[in-house]
Amino acid sequence: MSLREIIKVPNPFLKVTAQPVTVIDEDILTILDDMMETMYHANGIGLAATQIAIDKRLIVMDCGKTKFETQNISEEEYNEKIKDEQFEPFPIKMINPEIISLSKNLEEREEGCLSIPGYNAKIKRPSSLKVKYTDENKKDNIIDAEGLLATCIQHEIDHLNGILFIDHLSKLKREIILKKAIKEYSKN
Ligand code: ZN
Repeated sequence: MSLREIIKVPNPFLKVTAQPVTVIDEDILTILDDMMETMYHANGIGLAATQIAIDKRLIVMDCGKTKFETQNISEEEYNEKIKDEQFEPFPIKMINPEIISLSKNLEEREEGCLSIPGYNAKIKRPSSLKVKYTDENKKDNIIDAEGLLATCIQHEIDHLNGILFIDHLSKLKREIILKKAIKEYSKN
């Protein structure tokens, strides 16, 4: 396994629509392993292949096992709980994830992104969903997700469609974040 470089805004690759995976071979499994390692290394809870400049429909996540209630808590509170060692790892790798239904009920949650590090915003999204995906053992799964995991799945699938969480904000808010972030990252 190896760490991959996470691309940041304004890298145009973040706007690319990823292609479906047709064959699950060693290359795909290696990419998934590398994505997981890269995500943990960056202290993230989700990563899409798009963020390491690969245009394949692959996402990885670890929103933990629910030793504690993840519903209605922000990513910040969640990170606090992780520090309290209430976190039990629960890595999920999804190949060709596809949302098949979304709840009408919406929930607002603070989101951040490894491609826009240091900037968070509250985003309203459906609070639960059903997602279909193929796992690393080539098995097809359908799972129900709610709380933080539901947010995470939507955020990561958005990446595969070239959408960032800030695209859900008003144009004004989005441009403020983008301007600040791009200025900050260009200093390094
Ligand atoms: Zn992201």
